[in-house]
Amino acid sequence: MSDLYREIPQVAKLLEDASIKSFLSRFYISEIKEVIDETLADLRTKIKNNELKEIKYEEVVRLIVEKLNKKQIYSLRKVINGTGTIIHTNLGRSLLSEAAIKHVIEVCANYNNLEYNLVKGERGSRYEHVEGMMARLVGSEACLVVNNNAAAVLLSVSAFAKNKEVVVSRGELVEIGGSFRIPEIIETSGAILREVGTTNRTHLSDYEKATNDNTAIYLKVHPSNYHIIGFTNNVTNDEIVSLEKKMNKERVKPIITIEDLGSGCLIDLSSSGYKENLVSESIKSGIDLVTFSGDKLLGGPQAGIIVGKKNLIDQLKKHPLLRAFRVDKMTIAALEGTIRDYFDEEKAKRTIPTLKMIYLSESELRERALMLYERIKCIEGISSEVIRVYSTIGGGSLPHSQLVSYGVVIKISNYPAHEIERVLRNQEVPIIGRIVNDKFLLDVRTLLDSDIDIIINTLDRIGRSLWKTS
Ligand SMILES: *Cc1c(COP(=O)(O)O)cnc(C)c1O
Repeated sequence: MSDLYREIPQVAKLLEDASIKSFLSRFYISEIKEVIDETLADLRTKIKNNELKEIKYEEVVRLIVEKLNKKQIYSLRKVINGTGTIIHTNLGRSLLSEAAIKHVIEVCANYNNLEYNLVKGERGSRYEHVEGMMARLVGSEACLVVNNNAAAVLLSVSAFAKNKEVVVSRGELVEIGGSFRIPEIIETSGAILREVGTTNRTHLSDYEKATNDNTAIYLKVHPSNYHIIGFTNNVTNDEIVSLEKKMNKERVKPIITIEDLGSGCLIDLSSSGYKENLVSESIKSGIDLVTFSGDKLLGGPQAGIIVGKKNLIDQLKKHPLLRAFRVDKMTIAALEGTIRDYFDEEKAKRTIPTLKMIYLSESELRERALMLYERIKCIEGISSEVIRVYSTIGGGSLPHSQLVSYGVVIKISNYPAHEIERVLRNQEVPIIGRIVNDKFLLDVRTLLDSDIDIIINTLDRIGRSLWKTS
């Protein structure tokens, strides 16, 4: 047995092998060494477990080359989204607009005035860059941007309700994406959750009865990813604000109202067939602070945006947690680059990818599906058909949203759908689709124009390898 250990090739020798050495054009030597070490460690384990009878040098080289061929330079990389879910949390949510990307590059490749006031020639604040523009867009007095909406809610509740009560309807105690749960956020903030009403019905009188000297916040939460239908009642922003006013008449320390809107829609989407609460409507209703994400319906980078009353936002700016939640220059640049286009809503619908995908017309989608189908049809070993499907907006926005779209079904030889899914997911540019009624398909709504050639080339390669092996 010990003889086998001695037959394991030397790392130095393997590094000199021409077929391994050729990978130096793509990888650093330490990356190649890591693959070699991994392969040799596997061999040692196999020897130890008596699973090997002999070691062939050529076989070891083949294993290493195979691994290097599969190895990607980066872990985080581009994929093709054929799922039809526009704001796909697993696939990076919103795509940035060209203006946003350009601005990020310009700002990050150079020194910049991140915290420098160019007028006064002295230290400035990073929070000033987008604040004015965002406040103007939603009609609020002030704005503050943090890392994500979870941080926005945590910061707001921590700042105004530490050791005090936060009143929330039982119908709004939501969990979003597994790790964001309203009851846990409130607990982590050091506040006390005061649940009112029931899952399906909450009345203004429930809030009123729950109010006491220790009440600090009436918190409204958009139940982003689910929808209660049937015998329901929810309290409107107007009602909450009127209760707040009534209660505050006799209080030393006023109660404040906060709404966690989740997706944060800046423009009326109803012409696409969907209605989502607008940030500006919440502000208009008199809610003190409204929080939302930057990378959901807004279509920008990951960020948490807080808009509302200036005196409250000024207090948030002084809170020690803000330092922990502060945004990077990349986020500020991307956000500024995104939201500027909202000054012309029609332009925003063309330039911001999330909005553009929502507004793709049925005829555009059909045309794109047929074009992809025609090209796939020419590939030997692969067949296709076009079917009508429904896309969703996703990202905890509009849970019941169903946008009519077209799917291009891909059939490879006699592979079952889950096998096609696996094969396409493991390509150099992974192609992620979805399975509907045992058919693997790509919903064309979330495909980019530049994805089409990649899909065709990938399928072509798969088709040819089938033909070779059969
Ligand atoms: C998505 C969402 C969050 C979390 O936002 P992130 O930006 O992902 O941190 C919080 N609340 C609501 C209602 C949401 O929809």
